[in-house]
Amino acid sequence: MAAISSSFLSFSSPYLHRQTTDTKLTQYYQTKPPKTTKLTIASLGSDIRKEEVVIVGAGIAGLSTAVSLHRLGVRSVVLEQAESLRTGGTSLTLFKNGWKVLDTMGVGDELRSQYLEIQGMVIKTEAGRELRSFTFKEVDQTQEVRAVERRTLLETLAKQLPVDSICFSSKLARIERHKDGETLLELVNGTRISSKVVIGCDGIRSSVAKWMGFSEPNYVGYCAFRGLADYPDGQPFGQRVNYIYGQGIRAGYVPVSPTKVYWFVCFNSPSPGPKITDPIVLKKQAKQLIKKWPSDELQNIVDATPDDTIIRTPLVDRWLWPGFSPPASLGGAVLVGDAWHPMTPNLGQGACCALEDAVVLVQKLAPALEAGPMAIEDALRSYQNERWPRIFPMTVRANVVGAVLQLENPVVCAVRDNVLVPKLIRLGPMLEHTNFEFEPLQQTRV
Ligand SMILES: Cc1cc2nc3c(=O)[nH]c(=O)nc-3n(C[C@H](O)[C@H](O)[C@H](O)COP(=O)(O)OP(=O)(O)OC[C@H]3O[C@@H](n4cnc5c(N)ncnc54)[C@H](O)[C@@H]3O)c2cc1C
Repeated sequence: MAAISSSFLSFSSPYLHRQTTDTKLTQYYQTKPPKTTKLTIASLGSDIRKEEVVIVGAGIAGLSTAVSLHRLGVRSVVLEQAESLRTGGTSLTLFKNGWKVLDTMGVGDELRSQYLEIQGMVIKTEAGRELRSFTFKEVDQTQEVRAVERRTLLETLAKQLPVDSICFSSKLARIERHKDGETLLELVNGTRISSKVVIGCDGIRSSVAKWMGFSEPNYVGYCAFRGLADYPDGQPFGQRVNYIYGQGIRAGYVPVSPTKVYWFVCFNSPSPGPKITDPIVLKKQAKQLIKKWPSDELQNIVDATPDDTIIRTPLVDRWLWPGFSPPASLGGAVLVGDAWHPMTPNLGQGACCALEDAVVLVQKLAPALEAGPMAIEDALRSYQNERWPRIFPMTVRANVVGAVLQLENPVVCAVRDNVLVPKLIRLGPMLEHTNFEFEPLQQTRV
């Protein structure tokens, strides 16, 4: 348990987190309010604004939690550090578990109408030899795979919320548990909020998770370039995922919509390396990695990528070891999505799991809100107990799959490419993790 003893109103010590030896962390928590901030929450001077539910972060986890609460008639406030929803970025592949949750939130069909259903997958070696191909429905008639643009997913979720539910330019600076059971939040702009429930949806570098005692996520030894190629006159690819397995490098591309194609290149790197944002450099580096591959197809897809959709990300995860990892909740504060369980993208499940988290949490939390702090804490513990057995194995599995796919040794790669992938892997068990049952949300508000 994180015991916070300093006064919430005192600025004399770095108090967001009990471990304050990290210089960067200390600097972060002592950040002064920016001179110009667009405030959408009124700054209340010495007053503390009271809220029932505050969500930190307007990513997929935060917005899907807010929409689920809204569907059950519960108002929440979403604090987002950025000035707007994330507009750049690429796409996410969502499997049937993700789509089921989007359906219960009432946004599935709106998104489906914009994105292609991916029928299957083909896996090739870097030399272009086909190792395996299959269709998803061969194995599971109920499977649904589509890639959606992150921007559109966020906008579609945000549209479901009452006006002013999302407070932009509202970066959480510190958090403290109050003796009345509420959680106190202070934003970088000085706004103070006391809330019965705080839901930390602030992603892999979550401040809320740090305060709860979670360690930084671990770098797994490889990075990914990603982009969203644009074909205004129509993209020429069939509706399947294309994977290319090399030695220490793998790549892929996925048709997203009639005009957009998502691609990635993952490469081994002993360290995460410097942050690079120049799209020309990023494109050059991505193309360099695959330049010896005989087919030009992926090079051409990289060339067709607008500058604002190309990024390079060091990949990380955090394993929630039983007995070692802190609980997912502390008093009335709880974690959802990457803030709790960052996982590598090898199963395409990070966002799907954030969506699952949201609906499970909200089903338990909404009825407990009226019943008081004990019932809320019980609901948050019950959420953790239900989600942990799903999340922990998924995180480990995603990591192991990534490790196999990033192999560099030519002999081991030959075994992978000639035995493991073509002969041993069965698609059914490979996609079993996309089975997910839950109680649909009773839509009391639309
Ligand atoms: C290369 C790659 C490919 C992926 N592909 C897939 C895929 O195909 N399918 C899939 O399901 N998943 C995929 N994922 C995983 C997916 O992107 C994440 O799981 C998902 O984005 C998590 O959403 P989130 O809302 O928890 O976190 P985020 O999307 O990181 O959102 C966190 C939000 O909190 C805000 N925030 C942070 N700190 C503060 C603060 N102090 N105060 C206020 N706001 C704050 C941030 O600005 C941000 O808006 C992929 C991930 C990577 C890296």
